[in-house]
Amino acid sequence: MKQNIINIAYLVSGIMFIYGLKRLQSPATARKGNQLAAIGMLVAVVATLFFKELLTPIQMLMGVVVGAGIGLYLAKKVEMTGMPELVAAFNGFGGIGSALVAGAEIARFMAHNAADTGGDEFTAISAVTISLSILIGMITFTGSFVAFGKLSERISGNPISFLGMRFITIVFLVAAVGATVWMGMENVTFQEINADAMLYGAIVVAVSGAFLGILLVIPIGGADMPVVVALLNSYSGLAAAATGFVLNNNALIISGALVGASGLILTNIMCVAMNRSLLNVLIGGFGGDGGDAAAGGGVSTAGMTVNSTSADDVAILLSYANKVIFIPGYGMAVAQAQHAVRELGEELAKKGVIVKYAVHPVAGRMPGHMNVLLAEANVPYDQLFEMDEINAEFETTDVAVVIGANDVVNPAARHDKASPIYGMPILNADKAGTSIVLKRSMRPGYAGIDNELFYNSNNQMLFGDAKESIAAVTNEVKQL
Ligand code: NDP
Repeated sequence: MKQNIINIAYLVSGIMFIYGLKRLQSPATARKGNQLAAIGMLVAVVATLFFKELLTPIQMLMGVVVGAGIGLYLAKKVEMTGMPELVAAFNGFGGIGSALVAGAEIARFMAHNAADTGGDEFTAISAVTISLSILIGMITFTGSFVAFGKLSERISGNPISFLGMRFITIVFLVAAVGATVWMGMENVTFQEINADAMLYGAIVVAVSGAFLGILLVIPIGGADMPVVVALLNSYSGLAAAATGFVLNNNALIISGALVGASGLILTNIMCVAMNRSLLNVLIGGFGGDGGDAAAGGGVSTAGMTVNSTSADDVAILLSYANKVIFIPGYGMAVAQAQHAVRELGEELAKKGVIVKYAVHPVAGRMPGHMNVLLAEANVPYDQLFEMDEINAEFETTDVAVVIGANDVVNPAARHDKASPIYGMPILNADKAGTSIVLKRSMRPGYAGIDNELFYNSNNQMLFGDAKESIAAVTNEVKQL
C-alpha cells in the first residue's frame, strides 16, 4: 500500500515535469512551466521522505531550510549575466549528490553484510550501476566546477592543454572502465556485497571520474562554456538516472532521463544555431577570453572608418520611422538595458511607429537569454519574433537598432568561409534602411572577430553603455 502511494506520487511528479518542460517552449507559458515542475519536485521529495521514513521530521526540516536557504540566496544574488555559472554550479552539486548517494549505497550494503540480516541482494548489476553513478557524477562535479571557474573568470578562459594530456585522459578512462568491470565480476557469484571490491573499485572510479571531468573541460575555450554547461546538465541527469537504478527509485529514473535528454537536445540546438558540431565545440578551442581588439570609437582594428552618431540624431531617425526592429544581444544583458529599451519602444509606439524585437537563438550567453530579459521588462510577447519569423522583414524596415549585439548580426557569417562564424544564420540588420549599433567601443564580441556591418555606409555607431544611450535617446524622443 505504502509503495503504491509512493509510486503514484512519483508518477504525478513525472507528469508535472513533462508538462512543465512543455510549457518552457514559449516565453508566455515558461514561468508557469517552471512552477509546475518545481511543485512536481516537491511532491516527489515529500513522498520519498514521508513514506520511506528515511529521516526524522526535524532532520527533514533542517534539510529543507538549508537547501532552500542556499538556493534562495544564490538565485536572488546572481546577476542575469551570471546565470550560466550558477547553472554550472548547480549541475556540479547534482553530480556530487549522485556520486555520494551511490557511495552511501555501498556503505548500506556493507553494513547489511556485517549484520547478516538477509533482505536485499547485491548483484553484478548493482555494482555496475553504482559505479556508473559515481563515474558520471564525479565527471559532472569536477567538469561543472571547471566550467564555473572559467565562466566566473577564476580560471583562465583560454583552452588549456599540455603534452600527454590525451594519454592521461585515456589512462583514467581505462582505469574507470577496468574498475567497473572488476566490481561487476567480483559480485557475480555473491548474493551479498563483496565489500573490498566495491570499496577499492569505487575509489578508483571516483578519482578517475574527478580527473576526467577536469581533463575534458579545461581544453575547451571559456566562451564555449555555455554549451559545455548544457552538456554537463545532461550528464547530471544521466548520473541521477543511474542513481535511480541503484536505489530502485522511479522518480529519479524519470527525472534523470528527462534532464539527460533535454540537456542533450539543448546542446544540439545551441550547436546548430552556431553552425558548429559538438565535436568542434569540445576540441575546437574556440573563443577563449574573447578578443582584445579594443580600438577608439570610430576606428576599427583594420583602420577602416565607421560613422558615429549621437542620441539626438538617433531619436529623430526613430521618431520619423514607420517600422523599427530592436535586436538585443549580450551587451543589453551586461548593461541591464532591457527596461530602458521597453520604455523607448513604448514611446515610439505612441508616435505610431511599428516596433518589433528580433531574437536570435544564440544572442547573449545562454539559451533564451534575451527572451528572459525582455519578459522581465514586460515587453509584450506579440512584439517578440524569432529569427526565422522576422528576417524577411528587415528589407521593409526603416531602422534596425542593434543593442549590444555583435556576432549575431555579422554579415561575414554569410560569405566569409575563413570566418569562425561562417554558416551561422544571422539577423539581417544590414538589410534595413539604416542600422544603428549601440556598443561601447569597437571591441569584438564572443567570436573575437571584427564586424562588417559596422563599416556599411548605412550603418551608424552610437558609442556608450547601452542603458545610458537608450535613456538619452528616449529623452530626446519624448521631446520631439
Ligand atoms: P556578442 O558577444 O557577439 O557581442 C556583444 C557585444 O556587446 C560586444 O561586442 C560588446 O561590445 C557589447 N557590450 C558589452 N557590454 C556592453 C554595454 N554595457 N553596453 C553596450 N554594449 C555592450 O553578443 P551577441 O549576443 O551578438 O552574440 C552572442 C555570441 O555568443 C554568439 O557568438 C554566440 O554564438 C555566442 N554564444 C551564445 C550562447 C547562447 O546560448 N546564447 C552560448 C555560447 C555562445 P563593447 O565591448 O564594445 O561594448
